[in-house]
Amino acid sequence: MMTRSEYIESLRKLNLNVYMFGEKVASPVDNPVIRPSLNSIAMSYELAADPEYSELMTATSNLTGEKINRFTHIHQSADDLIKKVKMQRLMGQRTASCFQRCVGLDAANAIYSTTFEIDRAKGTNYFERFKKFWTRIQREDLVVDGAMTDPKGDRSLPPSKQSDPDLFLHVVERRPDGIVVRGAKFHQTGIINSHEVIVMPTMSMKEADRDYAVAFAVPTDTKGITLIYGRQSCDTRKLEEGADIDLGNKNFGGHEAMTIFDDVFVPNERIFMDGEYEFSGMMVERFAGYHRQSYGGCKVGVGDVLIGAAALAADYNGAAKASHIKDKLIEMVHLNETLYSSGIACSCEGKKTASGNYLIDLLLANVCKQNVTRFPYEITRLAEDIAGGMMVTLPSERDYKNPVTRKYIEKYYRGSDICSTEDRMRVMRLIENMTLGAAAVGYRTESMHGAGSPQAQRVMIARQGNIEAKKELAKKIAGIEK
Ligand code: SF4
Ligand code: FE
Repeated sequence: MMTRSEYIESLRKLNLNVYMFGEKVASPVDNPVIRPSLNSIAMSYELAADPEYSELMTATSNLTGEKINRFTHIHQSADDLIKKVKMQRLMGQRTASCFQRCVGLDAANAIYSTTFEIDRAKGTNYFERFKKFWTRIQREDLVVDGAMTDPKGDRSLPPSKQSDPDLFLHVVERRPDGIVVRGAKFHQTGIINSHEVIVMPTMSMKEADRDYAVAFAVPTDTKGITLIYGRQSCDTRKLEEGADIDLGNKNFGGHEAMTIFDDVFVPNERIFMDGEYEFSGMMVERFAGYHRQSYGGCKVGVGDVLIGAAALAADYNGAAKASHIKDKLIEMVHLNETLYSSGIACSCEGKKTASGNYLIDLLLANVCKQNVTRFPYEITRLAEDIAGGMMVTLPSERDYKNPVTRKYIEKYYRGSDICSTEDRMRVMRLIENMTLGAAAVGYRTESMHGAGSPQAQRVMIARQGNIEAKKELAKKIAGIEK
C-alpha cells in the first residue's frame, strides 16, 4: 500500500489539464484551493497505515490474496459492507468533508458484478478485463474516480434524440484497437486527486442509445480530458495570506470538477461495456445503490463533527445547560444515528451476486439516501440555531489580527470564561464551513443530489417496495379472499 507521501508524489507525476478561475492550474497538488481536498483523500492512506485502524481500513484482496486498502476492495461478505460504512464514518470524523475516494470503490463493485452478468449473457470477456485492470489498482493502491452523471440536455429526451449528441457521453468511433469517446461528466468528485477515472452510463438505455451504453477506464491525464474546477462557497478565502480561523477547516475539504472527454481514445483492454444497453440499468442501479449506502457512513461522520461543534458553541456561549439546547443536541444525534442505522442495515442485508462479490440491499440503501436528502438539513438548521447569528456576522480574521480592532473583538466577542475569544471564533467558523462554506458542498447540497437526487431514490423505493405483497398480507388478515 502507498504511504501518504507516496500518494502525493504519485499525483505530481500526473499531467492533468485542469482549469480554475479562468486559468490553467500549473500544479494542482500545491494549489491552496485544491490542496485541502487532496489532504482528505490522503487520510485514507494515513489511517490504513495506522495499526489501530487496520481492521477497518484494510482488507485481503480476493484477486491477489494481498493486504490492500479497503477503498480498493471487492466486497466479499456482508461484514465487508458493514466495515466499509464504518470506515467512511471514521473518515468523515477525521476530515469533516467529502474524502472522495468512495466513488471509485462503488464503481468497481458495480462493474465487477455487472460485467460478470454481461459476459454470461453475451459471451463477452469484460469481467476478466476488469479484474485485470482492478488488480493493478489494488497493487498500486491508486485513487479512482467514478464518472456517471452526464449533462443530459433536454431531460425529456433520450440520449440519441438530443439536438447535440454529445450531451451524453458516447462512442464516436470504433477501431480495431479500441474506441473513441466524446462527451462530458458533471460533478466529478475528487477527480483532480485521482489517478484513474471509470466512466459508466448515466441511466437505463434502449437500443437506439447503444453508443451511449459504454463503460471504461482511462488515466485522468489522458489526452483529450479537460477538468474545470467547480466553485465552492467561500473558496477564495483559501487564497488569503495566512488564512486559518476564517477557513473553519483549514486542512480538509472536497472538490468536484466538470470533466470533458474530447475524442478520448480508450484501448480495448480498458473497455467494460460497449453497446450492451440492456445492462446499463443494472450498472447504474448497483453503482447508485453502493453510493447511497456510502452516504450512511460519510455524512454521519461529518455529522458527528457538526454535532460536536454545535455542542462546543453552546458551551462557549454559556448556554449548554439550557434544556432546549440539550434537546436540540439529542435531536441531532437521533437524526445522525438514524442515517447510520440505514447505512448499516442495507449492509447487513447484503447478498452475494452471481460474480461472488456482495451487493447491499437496494431498498434499504435507497431509504438510507432518501433520509440523507433530509436529515443533514435539519441537523444543519439545529446547528445554526444553537450557534447563534455570530457564525455569519463575525469580523474577519484580519480584523482580529489588526491591533486597532483586535481589542474590541477580543473584549466583545468573549463568551464563557471556559474558552478564549479566538476559540469561540474558530468553532463558529467551523459551523459556517460545514453549513454554508466550502464543506457545505459535501454536507448539504451533496446530501440532496449526490448519489442521485431524491426522486431517483423514490423510483427505486417504488420498484423495490413490493406493495403487491403488502396488499396480500392485508387481505389475509382482513379475511378478503380475492
Ligand atoms: Fe465518499 Fe461521501 Fe464523498 Fe461520496 S460524498 S465520495 S460517499 S465522502
Ligand atoms: Fe458524493
